[in-house]
Amino acid sequence: MQDIKELALAELQDQLLSYGFPKYHAKQIFSWIYQKGIIEFSSMSNLPLALRNKIGEEFYILGLKLADLQKSSDGTTKFLFELEDKNLVEAVNIPAARRSTGCISSQVGCKFSCRFCASGLGGFKRNLRAGEILDEVLYLKNNTQGTDLTHIVFMGTGEPLDNYENVLKSIRIINSCDAFNIGARRITISTSGIIPGIERLALEDLQIELSISLHAPDDKRRSQVMPVNQKYPLKDLIRCCHEYIAKTNRQITFEYILIKNFNSGTDAAQELVNLLKDLRLAKVNLIPANPVPELKIMPASKPEIEAFKEYLFKSGINVTLRQERGEDIDAACGQLRLRHGQK
Ligand code: SF4
Repeated sequence: MQDIKELALAELQDQLLSYGFPKYHAKQIFSWIYQKGIIEFSSMSNLPLALRNKIGEEFYILGLKLADLQKSSDGTTKFLFELEDKNLVEAVNIPAARRSTGCISSQVGCKFSCRFCASGLGGFKRNLRAGEILDEVLYLKNNTQGTDLTHIVFMGTGEPLDNYENVLKSIRIINSCDAFNIGARRITISTSGIIPGIERLALEDLQIELSISLHAPDDKRRSQVMPVNQKYPLKDLIRCCHEYIAKTNRQITFEYILIKNFNSGTDAAQELVNLLKDLRLAKVNLIPANPVPELKIMPASKPEIEAFKEYLFKSGINVTLRQERGEDIDAACGQLRLRHGQK
């Protein structure tokens, strides 16, 4: 049996034609799955019975199972999913008023071993298929309780640009008005700075948001926390960002985790301003480090965070401070998975 979510609309239309059914049923099937959240073909009441039976023999809809769930007092919910091969991945639902943001994973584990991230601790296992990524979105959509899933961020486990084809295929279905219909500007890819992926993304006809994990203002410090910097150093990365902005006319958000005694002093703020000041469309999103006991990482103090933000602001940098959510659960990437003994 095949995961029906692996098929784009045109592919499903071709499949239905090959079974002898008109292709317009493909849009109905998309609507049942992605808009109504139906996960059984037998409930698709406007399809002929023969078609329901046929696709029920050939395909399945939802491939993952819930393995664990943690709910924060602020409403943030973290889901641990078991895939068909028993691997585990995490997704988080972050509600705000009637809307919610789904933070989803793109890989099982991760190759990039960022020091502040529990996801990279056990190394990389495999890419998620497009259908598995869509499973996460579908599950969140069906379980957001009183809110609409309006935003998707690829900020869970994995480097999305290291699983380019599957991530882009899933984004086209997340964005499609026949499927989830989530606007491209409400979909964010967050990367550790994979230059070939950013160059490729600049050529796509998609208005999605790009966010780059920076976390240090110079190569020495960045390589300490993000080994990927040895392959794609800051000079090349910033040149690539200039080209991305020139091609897309879209803003890039730079994520910057403020880690105590590491990258949160005035010297780092000055270097960061120098690094980014010539980028035409850039924003810095400051994030207090999430304590990861396994990695001995602690957040900068509140006065340090405020001073850092103030320095950037006064230097003309567009800067925001991310409100931490889900602090009373294992909110950092990979922590719930680690807790379940899977690396
Ligand atoms: S931050 Fe992202 S790229 Fe880095 S190890 Fe974690 S999941 Fe991988």
